[in-house]
Amino acid sequence: MTGLPSDELLDDTALIARDLIRFDTSNFGEGRSNGETDAAEYVAAHLTRLGLDAQMFESEPGRVSVVARVEGTDRSKPALVVHGHTDVVPAQPDNWSVDPFGGEIRDGMLWGRGAVDMKNMDAMMLTALGDILEAGKRPARDLVIAFFADEEAGGVLGSHYLVETHPELFAGATEAISEVGGYSITLNGSRAYLLQTGEKSLVWVKLVARGTAAHGSHVMRDNAVTKLAEAVAKVGRREWPIRLTDTTTELLGELARILDVDPLTVGPDELALATGSASRFIQASLRTTTNPTALTAGYKHNVIPDTAEALIDIRSLPGEEDAVLAELAEIVGPDIEIVVMHRDIGLETEFAGPLVDAITGTLKRHDPGAPVLPYLLSGGTDNKALSTLGIKGYGFAPLKLPPEMDFASMFHGVDERVPLDALVFGRRVLSDLLLNY
Ligand SMILES: [Zn+2]
Repeated sequence: MTGLPSDELLDDTALIARDLIRFDTSNFGEGRSNGETDAAEYVAAHLTRLGLDAQMFESEPGRVSVVARVEGTDRSKPALVVHGHTDVVPAQPDNWSVDPFGGEIRDGMLWGRGAVDMKNMDAMMLTALGDILEAGKRPARDLVIAFFADEEAGGVLGSHYLVETHPELFAGATEAISEVGGYSITLNGSRAYLLQTGEKSLVWVKLVARGTAAHGSHVMRDNAVTKLAEAVAKVGRREWPIRLTDTTTELLGELARILDVDPLTVGPDELALATGSASRFIQASLRTTTNPTALTAGYKHNVIPDTAEALIDIRSLPGEEDAVLAELAEIVGPDIEIVVMHRDIGLETEFAGPLVDAITGTLKRHDPGAPVLPYLLSGGTDNKALSTLGIKGYGFAPLKLPPEMDFASMFHGVDERVPLDALVFGRRVLSDLLLNY
């Protein structure tokens, strides 16, 4: 006896998510990736078993996305895109308590890279669809089911590739749901759900410092490493001012109401902190962030290199990309070159309308009494690419989580894991929403 649940006792959602975690689809960025072929073939086979025509698209060797359409009964209704990505960020196994690609089940949780970002939702999409189609039912509107490659590097070889080269796949679609929203948080001891109604912009830049190559023992004031280090420290320490958008204004108002505090005396950061571990998501949605994430310079202890480079992950509020880049240039000064490696827009959509009503109504049926609040995601998703086709994207991958869980730290974090019963909850909520919207 191992004390572990046997496979027969596990929900299919956990089994599928576990299978997907065991495909190491690490995306290292800058074009380096293990690729998504195995995961794409797996989800395509599943969709085919459900009677759907799963189309595979390879943007570059090994970079495979999968799309299938479920025909609705009422073709007059616009289609809904339900999308996930099959790539994951890399994991450093030494830091983990389990093999990040082992798909281990322990303590009522499924562990592994992708358990929350976002092989959980990929699996929920498949089982929720199965619940509908295998019961002989069909949703009213068309569903465009998409599993994208390359989301973790901005979707260039996944969602962006598909909306540019095959926009017909998304014909008739006006709305989309996907990751990083729909999960529960704990406020004053009670559950509430965050629905993602917007995303910050994303600008990935490289700072390049140039100097004079020389022997490491020389007097050298034109040292690229020193110049770069000064610039990186300034960028990393920059405190960007709080600016509220429609979404964060509405969220903070709701938080103040639920927590019964006066928003005029309690500041935005303080209100965000009252959300516990979710404050990691919410505080970052109140301002721009410019985090240094990588450094490259030098090749020998006693050689001064002529260049030094740093990567900065900039997440600006929607529409502020150019202003932030201009300010960044002032911060680092004229000696440092700023190379924009990748940039993408921010999004903000209203917390109202039939889809929002359907989502809040569905959550009410499955978790009565828990309020649903809008929030602005500090990261980005494939909704950015879909927005270029006029599709409004929401983050809704429903999970009912235990209060002690620090969910925000699971994203790209060490020991990423998801409760097994949250996957079952997500499957039920999603199949209810997809069937009845
Ligand atoms: Zn993700």
